[in-house]
Parts: sequence; structure tokens; C-alpha cells
Amino acid sequence: MDQFDYIIVGAGSAGCVLANRLSDNQAVSVCLIEAGPADSNPLIHAPIGFSLMGENKKLNWCFETVPQQHLNGRRGFQPRGRVLGGSSSINAMIYARGTPADYDRWDEAGATGWSFRDVLPYFRKSQDQERGEDEFHGTGGPLAVSDLRYKNPLSQMFIESARELNLPANDDFNGKSQEGVGFYQVTQRHGRRCSAAAAFLSPASSRSNLTVLTGAHVEKIVIDGKRAVGVQFHNGDRSVTLQANREVLLSAGGLQSPQLLMLSGIGPAAHLRERGIEVIHDSPEVGDNLQDHFDYTVIRRVTSSHAMGYTLSRTMRAMRRGPVHVESRRSRRVHTHLWRRTSPGYPAAFCPGHR
Ligand SMILES: Cc1cc2nc3c(=O)[nH]c(=O)nc-3n(C[C@H](O)[C@H](O)[C@H](O)COP(=O)(O)OP(=O)(O)OC[C@H]3O[C@@H](n4cnc5c(N)ncnc54)[C@H](O)[C@@H]3O)c2cc1C
Repeated sequence: MDQFDYIIVGAGSAGCVLANRLSDNQAVSVCLIEAGPADSNPLIHAPIGFSLMGENKKLNWCFETVPQQHLNGRRGFQPRGRVLGGSSSINAMIYARGTPADYDRWDEAGATGWSFRDVLPYFRKSQDQERGEDEFHGTGGPLAVSDLRYKNPLSQMFIESARELNLPANDDFNGKSQEGVGFYQVTQRHGRRCSAAAAFLSPASSRSNLTVLTGAHVEKIVIDGKRAVGVQFHNGDRSVTLQANREVLLSAGGLQSPQLLMLSGIGPAAHLRERGIEVIHDSPEVGDNLQDHFDYTVIRRVTSSHAMGYTLSRTMRAMRRGPVHVESRRSRRVHTHLWRRTSPGYPAAFCPGHR
């Protein structure tokens, strides 16, 4: 049985930061476990790939909700990253931290150390803000935050219309106020996605005290009495148990962290018993109180040459133009990419003009 000081379950936004910070101490050994694959797919790194990963089951768990009473019984699509970097490898890259008032409310509710004043130094430390340093932003950190390299004229028109309605302009949603209308900044460096894996895992990947396992879906936290002492997963037909000498850190995301707790016997006792799971700790709130934001896409047929979308003819034309190479900075492997870039930041298949 392999042993590590710290075992981190889930290599998403949280897991990659934890792996980086913990393995910075050479005196401890750290194992980061991810159910999905390495992040070598070029769709992850080219920002336009975002629109193509929505239903890619290799990189995305593609969950569905149960029928929702307030959506007339419809089920909601719930994308979640299933790859190194987790959801930060498939998300929309908007850099938005949350309002200061939310952090302050957490602190008031008893989460000491989570007020905005407490967390701001960490936001500043983690950031490499393209616009430079100020009270709210830092430079030189691992997470690149940039302005959009290409601003679509339709988006500019949308912003102009909002301003004509007297909505306040805002060019920094992570500054003094989050209110208003403007362009978001994005977690990108030189036009490439800066996922948590690229920002935090890549710089730590050569450390001898950090082991990263991919394709390993943890099925259970091993508990001795009331203490987490390891994890279990399957490697082919073989069940593998890893021992944690200090801590097991659960960063499998808002849906799967509570799921794994419940599979391990920590959760609402009656609910676990109904499913034949031995109760180790009755914790009624595990798996409850999930809050998520609603998101929907409006799709319209337009004739504007500034809109983006897919057409077969445009894609074929782009493919005929031949391959270009996109280098993955992290792995230093060269991937063949079938799109030639014909406008800043967008491959031809998504360029203005196709209908
Ligand atoms: C499509 C989409 C668009 C988004 N857009 C934005 C945006 O523009 N801006 C923004 O700020 N936020 C955005 N978000 C939200 C943001 O990406 C997430 O809030 C954040 O990444 C969550 O981080 P996490 O570490 O909690 O979980 P994740 O990053 O989801 O990481 C969890 C990881 O754990 C792994 N895992 C799960 N179960 C197991 C298991 N049993 N064993 C091993 N590994 C496991 C998963 O495969 C995953 O890699 C978006 C999310 C999605 C899905």
C-alpha cells in the first residue's frame, strides 16, 4: 500500500492550488488524484474550444439534474470538468471573484478568516494582472488575468445600448464595485486558457514530492474510527488503497465532494441506510443546500458578419487550409490543430462571415 502525507482528491481549481502549496514544502509527500485524463486536448488551451467541450464526455462529466419543479419538470444540464484543471479547464474563463459583501457575510456567520479583507491578499498574491498592480490586483502570481484580445462588435453594441439606458459603465468587475456593464477580464495568458492546472500544477509538476494520478476515480475515503486515513479507487480490475499519514483533502467539486462523503458513510443517516451504506457519521447537511446560478443560451439566426456559430461549409473550408501547430506549454508536446487562425483569437470555423 502506497503512503503519502497528504492525499488530494480531485485536480480541479481547488485541488491544483492545494497540490502546489502543499508540495512547496519538500519535507512532505503529496498525491493528487484525478478521475479524468491529463489536459493534453488542444480544445482546452485554445479559448474557442470552450464551445466544443460542452458535451465532450471525455473532459466533462455532463451531469443532468433531477426534474426541476420550477422548470416545469425539465432537467437541467450540469457540465463539470473531468480532466486535470477540473472545471477551470472547460469553463468560460471569466475572472470574477464574488462580491466583498458575500465574503463578509461568511465571516459574520462564523467562517472566521473569510472576510473580504482577509481573502483579498490571497487574490492579489495568486494573480498576474495584465493591467498592473493596484489595491485590488496583484502581479507576478501564477494565475494570468488579461483583457480580451478580440472584442466582438456585437458585444460592443450590447454594451453601448446598456450605457444608453444609463446603466453605469464598469471596466473592472473585481475592483471597487461589481455593478455596471462592460467587458469581463479573462483567465488567459497570450490568448491561451490559463486553467488552474496551467497556473498552479504545471510549475509544481517537476517536484519529486508530488505524485499526480490521472484516470483514478476515488470510490471511497477509508476511515478509521472517525479519522480519514486513506482513499480507495480501481485501477482496471484491481482495487487500490492509498494511505494518508496526515490528511485527506476533498476537492472533488460542489457535487462530487458531498457524493464521495456519502459513499464513505458520512451524511444523512436515513438516506445512507436506504441505499445500503454503513453510517460512520450522521451529518444531515451533507449533500443538501446546493445553490447554483441559472444559465441559458439564446440562439438566433442572424445575418451579421460579426456573429459566431458553426456551419459545415465554413468548417470544411478551414480544414482544407491545413494544420497549424499549437504547443502545449505544460507538456511541451506539439499537438496538431486543424484550424488556421484567421482573426485574433478565433480559428477560421468560428470567424466572422459564416452563415
Ligand atoms: C461550463 C462551465 C463554465 C464556467 N464558467 C466560469 C467562468 O467563466 N468563471 C468562473 O469564475 N467560473 C466558471 N465556472 C465555475 C468554475 O469553473 C468552478 O466553480 C470551479 O472550477 C470549481 O472548482 P472546484 O475545485 O470546486 O471543482 P472542479 O474544478 O470541478 O474540480 C473537481 C475535480 O474533481 C474530479 N473528481 C470528482 N470526483 C472525483 C473522484 N471521485 N475521484 C477523483 N477525482 C474526482 C473532477 O473530475 C474534477 O477534475 C464554470 C463552470 C463550468 C462547468
